[in-house]
Amino acid sequence: MADVMTVRGAISGDRLGVVDYHEHLAFDAPAWLLREDRDFRLDDPEKSAIELQSWVQAGGKTIIEMSAIDFGRHIQKVARVADLVPEAHIVVITGYNKPYYCDRSVWQTPEDDLIRACIRDIVEGIDGTGIRAGIMKGGTGYNTFTDKDRKLLRIAAKVQLETSVPIITHTEAGTMGYEQVEYLCSFGVKPEHICLSHMDRNPDFWEHRRIVATGAYLGYDCPGKIKYGPDELRIDVLRKLADEGLDHRILLGNDLGRPSYWRSYGGGPGLDFVLTKFMARLRAQGFLQQTLDNLLIHNPRRFLTLEG
Ligand SMILES: [Zn+2]
Repeated sequence: MADVMTVRGAISGDRLGVVDYHEHLAFDAPAWLLREDRDFRLDDPEKSAIELQSWVQAGGKTIIEMSAIDFGRHIQKVARVADLVPEAHIVVITGYNKPYYCDRSVWQTPEDDLIRACIRDIVEGIDGTGIRAGIMKGGTGYNTFTDKDRKLLRIAAKVQLETSVPIITHTEAGTMGYEQVEYLCSFGVKPEHICLSHMDRNPDFWEHRRIVATGAYLGYDCPGKIKYGPDELRIDVLRKLADEGLDHRILLGNDLGRPSYWRSYGGGPGLDFVLTKFMARLRAQGFLQQTLDNLLIHNPRRFLTLEG
């Protein structure tokens, strides 16, 4: 069992506890993106700490901060949150979210240089802080698999093979997930070291089952975000997967990367939503405790410790 790298150093898999596989705690979104959409200003570590504390009180232990380089990853702000909430283990990442967020430098810089920079984040630390990334990210656009999409995934594949840290990708509205797995694996990445984010934006049982059959993990991270469809849709697919014994390949998070999702900024559903209301609903709808434990504890532990 491999150790898992957190902001405060490596920890063993048995200390991970309840895991949220995809969140955003603090970042500085690019200025052009903020001009387009002010609802990406999640940059106040004090407010993040209040929100994270509510999640810890609901039983959370390990949280993966998924803000990638192109999305405005800000390691000092995340480190400040970690200082304010020492009860939480925070894992940070390296790599890129999707072509739309990447500026010209990503396309003009040779691929090998970008790979080396990501490896440095994992082996030495990010921006001179000594805080090491524990996850590699890549991603694609909506139903696209362009040269740019492939470049970001290729970087992720090569960094994974070099460092062993698992890959969590971005899928745009749950599209191109199967293609991502095929492409990453064509370089030798093992499917069990890949998790696809936002798959419950596309709650399509047939598609989810064929991805699970590859051995890759599905990331569900939209509970409570009703603008992306009612929870009933994602719960229906979850039930079908659990009924077929496939709930060992799902990770849960909430991906609350906007202040409008956070109570500490005056919004909702709040960072504790999955652990409180969503879990209560799954129990009320007859899901077994074993399934809930798989989603929150056992699956992320196997994924993060490279156990398969
Ligand atoms: Zn996200």
